[in-house]
Formats: sequence, structure tokens, C-alpha cells
Amino acid sequence: NPDLSQIGKQMSKRTGVRAIMKDIIETLHGGGGQEFINLSAGNPTILPEVVALWRDCTAELLASSEYGEVVCRYGSSQGYAPLIEAIARDFNQRYGVHLRDRNILITPGSQALYFYAANAFGGYREDGKLKQILLPLSPEYTGYGGVSLTPEAVVACKPLIEIDEPTHRFKYSPDFDQLQMTPETGCVIFSRPCNPTGNVLSDEEVRKIATLAEPFNVPVLVDSAYAPPYPSLNFTPMTPIFGENILHCLSLSKVGLPGERIGIAIGNPELIEVLESFQTNACIHSPRYGQAIAARAIASGKLADIAETVVRPHYQHKFTVLETTLDAVMPKNIPWFLHQGEGAIFAWLWFPDLPQSDWELYQALKKAGVIAVPGSSFFPGLQEEWAHKEQCLRISLTATPDEIALGMERLAAVVEQVWR
Ligand code: PLP
Repeated sequence: NPDLSQIGKQMSKRTGVRAIMKDIIETLHGGGGQEFINLSAGNPTILPEVVALWRDCTAELLASSEYGEVVCRYGSSQGYAPLIEAIARDFNQRYGVHLRDRNILITPGSQALYFYAANAFGGYREDGKLKQILLPLSPEYTGYGGVSLTPEAVVACKPLIEIDEPTHRFKYSPDFDQLQMTPETGCVIFSRPCNPTGNVLSDEEVRKIATLAEPFNVPVLVDSAYAPPYPSLNFTPMTPIFGENILHCLSLSKVGLPGERIGIAIGNPELIEVLESFQTNACIHSPRYGQAIAARAIASGKLADIAETVVRPHYQHKFTVLETTLDAVMPKNIPWFLHQGEGAIFAWLWFPDLPQSDWELYQALKKAGVIAVPGSSFFPGLQEEWAHKEQCLRISLTATPDEIALGMERLAAVVEQVWR
């Protein structure tokens, strides 16, 4: 075994959902011959129209005189200039902002961006004080659990919960009485729309968080991996919010490019420069092939178009299938609550009186041929005991509508059995 440093040990551990992925993969590929409905995947569905767009952009790139310049040379750490220009122009037109190239950084996927930010703004300061990476609304994206080289820096706040008993729906919102910024707050991160819950913080809530952070000079990273204008996986109206201390962070992974790794940070040049230097040290720059095809897809307006007309309706339809099936088949006398489906590619279920743990429910579902993700993986940074953490389940909307409907029927049967 290699003799690892403290950081080496920390970073070589599997965190969050990756830890249970091993069990999921073994189950899916196990020799038992059992067929499973896989409702655990975070990998987006391959949509023909989206593939065609990227294929066309690639063909254009291959035929252009730009090709050699794109793949055969190093570029700037900040990113490929035509992509940065296309994003600035698109956002300026769409949202009436005044972005210039210094406001934008391209990273190899947005996960890398959160890694840079978590370690540049959070972690131990020179005076030995710990700067926290604050997640204002737990549950949250499991990937935030591994972003800091000092994991104790990640801290999360419990949410307020609004329940609508008759319709079996619920919704989380930030608890502003709990949410406090201090000189020890390093940065704030949240996903909007949220993975795993499908929640969308209101424009007002985002502004309120940014306002609380401002006096302490705390950057607020709004993880917009599911937000408009690409991939536009919001099912409820929302506007991107910009501000001096806001880093608006995009990802092209949910509009067909997860394999090319493109993340985008938009914000104040001083913050962008910090992240850019971090990137130079980590990997010099993002691969340029993906950036060059993305520049074409954005500049032509086709990416935003396809997000709205193909990607959003695809997942929204599946959410509708999921909720109508649940409403029809779930036992009426058992408390179950579906989080309001406001966006993203997941549904989130909560069973307040679950007589077993979420892990046991996951195992029971497996026996019924369905794989979903136990909810406890989605509370990074929330150390305190809270029964709620073991009462939830994340269901992916990447399977087919038929699989989703059948999966929910089987879930209803398992739930009935569990309560019996
Ligand atoms: N943020 C959220 C909320 C996500 O769901 C994901 C991936 O699923 C990521 C960030 C990371 O995306 P990527 O690194 O592919 O841009």
C-alpha cells in the first residue's frame, strides 16, 4: 500500500454517491440473472436531437481551418476565446448584463470549478482559522462532499419543510434564522435547480443569500448545472441572478456534453482570476475540442433552443409520469411525500415514518428489481443527527417513461410490505 499523506488518504476515499455506486454496479452486473429497472443513474439520457447538434458542430470544426489551432496547440488557462466571446454575447443579450471576457472562466467540467473554489475560498487560513464552505440548504449535491482538501470545512444547514398532506407533496426552503455568515465563512455553494431534490430557490432567496454574504466578502457560487439557458432543466420560472459576489456556474453536461467536461464560471474578474490561477496549477486549461464545438452551438443559438424545445420537455414529461403513477398506486394511509418537481433530472421522496433505514429500503427495492439511490448520500456537511437523513430516496428521470411507471408500481408494493 502506498504511504499516503493526510490529503492523499482523504482524496483517495470514495465519498457520497460514489460509495454506493460500487454496490449498484455489482448489483446491475451481478450473475444472478435478475433484470433491474435502474432509477439510480446520474448520467443524462442520450437524446437524438442533442447528439445531432454536437455531431454537426464537430463536422463544422473538422472542416474548418481552425481545427489545427484548436487541437494541436496549448491555449490560455481562461479558456478558448471564441467560446468565452459566445457566452458573453449570449448572456448580455439574454439577461441584459455587461459581461466581458474577464468575467468568464472555462473549466474541465463544473465539478473542477467547485474544487478550485472550495479550496481557494475555504479551508485553513494563514492564521490557522478554518474558513467554511457553507451549503445553505441540505440535502444537496453529493459531489460537494468531496470538494474540499479539508473536509471538516464543509458545513450544511437544515432546511425548513413545508408539507402539503392531502396531495402528498413537500418542499424545502432555506432557514434564514439558521443561516448565518461570519468572518469564518469562506464561500457559499448551492445547486439551483437542486440535485437531488428538484427544488428551485426563488430569485428572492438567492438575492437574500448573496446580501447576507456581501458584508463578509463571501463569494456565493450558484451551481446552475440544470438552469437556463442551457440545459434549461427548470420546470418552474427562474432567472439567473448576477451580482458582485455571485459566481454563476454552468455546466454543459446536461445538454449532451458530459464526456467533454465543460464548466463555466461567470463573475467578478477578481474572483475569476483566483480560480484561473488555481486551474493553471491543476491542469493548465480545459480541453479545447469540446470548447470549440460548444462555441459553435452557443453562438448559433441552437444550444439554448434545443435545451428548451427538447431537453426540458423530455424530463418534464417523465416527472409527470412519475407523479401521476405515484398518486395512483401509493398506499393512501402511509405517509409519503414527493418533493415539488421544479427542475433537474431527479425526483425526491420522503417517508417520515419509515420503519427502517433508507439503506434497508434500498435493499428491499433491489429485491423487487428496482434500483434507486438511498437519500443519506445527499447530506454532505450536515453532521448532526437527524432522522430525516435516513428517510429519503432519489429517483432518476433518465430511465424510460415505462420503466419509471413500472418502477413506481414496484416501489408502492415494497412500501406496503415494509409498513405491514
Ligand atoms: N453540480 C450538480 C448539481 C450536478 O448534479 C453535477 C453532476 O451531476 C455537477 C455539479 C458536476 O457536473 P460536471 O462536472 O459534469 O459539470
